[in-house]
Amino acid sequence: MGLSSSKIDKALENFDQFPPNERFFGLENFGNTCYCNSVVQVLFYCLPFRQRVLQYYCEQKSLPMPTSTPNVDPVNINNNNVNSNNNTQQNYYTRNVNNNSSNTTTTTTTNNSNSSNNRTTANYNYNNIDQDTDSLILCLGELFYTIMQQKKRTGVISPKRFVERLKHENELFRSYMHQDAHEFLNFLLNSITEFLQKQQQQPNGKDVNSNNSSKKEVKTFVHEIFEGTLTNETKCLTCESVTNKDESFLDLSIDIGQNRSLTSCLSNFSSVETLSQNDKFYCDKCNSLQEAQKRMKIKQLPNTLIIHLKRFKFFEAFQQYKKLNYRVVFPFEIIVQNTTNDIVDPDKKFYLFAVVIHVGNGPNHGHYVSMIKSHGVWFIFDDDNIDIIQESDIYNCFGSSNDFIGSNDCGYLLFYQSESQ
Ligand SMILES: [Zn+2]
Repeated sequence: MGLSSSKIDKALENFDQFPPNERFFGLENFGNTCYCNSVVQVLFYCLPFRQRVLQYYCEQKSLPMPTSTPNVDPVNINNNNVNSNNNTQQNYYTRNVNNNSSNTTTTTTTNNSNSSNNRTTANYNYNNIDQDTDSLILCLGELFYTIMQQKKRTGVISPKRFVERLKHENELFRSYMHQDAHEFLNFLLNSITEFLQKQQQQPNGKDVNSNNSSKKEVKTFVHEIFEGTLTNETKCLTCESVTNKDESFLDLSIDIGQNRSLTSCLSNFSSVETLSQNDKFYCDKCNSLQEAQKRMKIKQLPNTLIIHLKRFKFFEAFQQYKKLNYRVVFPFEIIVQNTTNDIVDPDKKFYLFAVVIHVGNGPNHGHYVSMIKSHGVWFIFDDDNIDIIQESDIYNCFGSSNDFIGSNDCGYLLFYQSESQ
């Protein structure tokens, strides 16, 4: 159940660990944009990411950094900066949740897009997007900045400019259909990465470095935060030579099974697969196609680990994607095992700080919400509603141990922060 902003304000008073500048704003839904809202909220409370996006935005717009940007682990509580800048931008508008309680706790796709639009157009300029210079990262930065600059601690904000830009950049997100939160996250991170790489290579519109291969080596803050490395190890079964090929990842997509733990799904991810028949491996030593054993190993873990549980599976028999409501238990703390021998920090511990949850029965129906830990307190973000929850509420989104009945609130994207961050 969502609380009105005054109620959540009151509830927040019971906790003294929040820095005075931390903000808790719901995001308005523009008709099935919960896939976007749920992920954007997680990224906002992923503090290293928030910090870097704000830094970038303020640099580009020659604005002072909000003094309020805490650069701390969300698990710990040690920030006491004071909010001083009230230079609120006009591109967004805020309102009180009290005015609208009609779409609280909705678990269907029927969000009230018409009324949202009516409410927004009054203050929003549709032609505000400069298609050449405004990028997705600038629109995201503007959204983060606007939230940080709010005088009130709680409320609702319209992410309209960001959503418009997203639709401009990718037609996939233009419809009012239900979209995949993972696909959106992937697109957003990749698009920010590519944009920053391009900008670093062509600061004056000129290609400084004509060597194409160098393009991939430009690392951005997205890499610093989310990038890890996998080693694809292939062993030829004829000559027994081993080939290692490294590939980087921004998230791990893992297969799931009924009543499996996250740890067990992760070790399955690294299990041995035999390449044979039509799927043989070309061995350089044997100079021919050979049977081989392939294994994916985690070589380097990122600072923030994103795990995507593959809950949407294509079934040949039905010729469509179906949702797997399987119960997959994920822990609050995890040491990711099954890595390569030369791993830098084998006992790196990770703490769960956010979960994007899919509610509903199918890939084309349903709703996304996120549960996020900020300064030691868990919150649920459900579009324009925010509520404080108990840590134990996370147990309700593991899925159902019965394939046909039970909860269809399922953890879908898991966000873990490393201990060292
Ligand atoms: Zn061989």
